[in-house]
Amino acid sequence: MIKNQLNDILLQISQAEQRYARLPGDVLLLAVSKTKSAQAIAKAYQAGQRHFGENYCQEVLGKQKELGAYDITWHFIGPIQSNKTKLIANHFSWVHSVDSFRIAQRLSDQRANTLPPLNICLQVNISDEQTKSGIRLAELAELTQSVAALPNLILRGVMAVPEPELDFEKQRQPFKALRASVVALNNSALDTFSFGMSADLNAAIAEGSTIVRIGTALFGARA
Ligand SMILES: *Cc1c(COP(=O)(O)O)cnc(C)c1O
Repeated sequence: MIKNQLNDILLQISQAEQRYARLPGDVLLLAVSKTKSAQAIAKAYQAGQRHFGENYCQEVLGKQKELGAYDITWHFIGPIQSNKTKLIANHFSWVHSVDSFRIAQRLSDQRANTLPPLNICLQVNISDEQTKSGIRLAELAELTQSVAALPNLILRGVMAVPEPELDFEKQRQPFKALRASVVALNNSALDTFSFGMSADLNAAIAEGSTIVRIGTALFGARA
């Protein structure tokens, strides 16, 4: 089941890469395994998947312990509370959902010196909703500078979760705007665009996504 879904998504990704003149292998599949069991993750791993994304700190340690023998790259993609930064800093290789300098500084301070620098994306609110997390586009330039200066982090790019939208052309617009803002910073270290989920995968790849974060289409609906 998971193996078929995985192959289906990988095919969709490679077809979208072709259709939108992206290089083959440009787009990484991040399997979003929040609420799913270690067993489900193991099945995806056995089918070849290596990058997994988690949202909830309370689920992470148990799963990582069970899957300790696997060569998994773990990405944190959920909201970050400041009392959880130490756990996040030391149990992940990537954090996509950084939305303040204070959180970035805590992650840098708390990342063990024995570990390689933590890969960071700034989460940008591209739908301008009061309730959504993420920085505003207007804050991006300043925050990229301050976060990039922190010692135990590598600032890699941006992440976004736009408002759900069914129309393909409308799905593309916020991704296009975000990408243009990053390109305008003219900073070659910013090579990561973490956008695209199960419902807007093609629009995201059309607009330059380099990591798509897929949960439902891979593991099925969440309870
Ligand atoms: C849950 C989640 C996803 C995966 O969403 P699906 O619609 O299940 O593919 C991607 N990104 C973030 C930040 C999430 O919280």
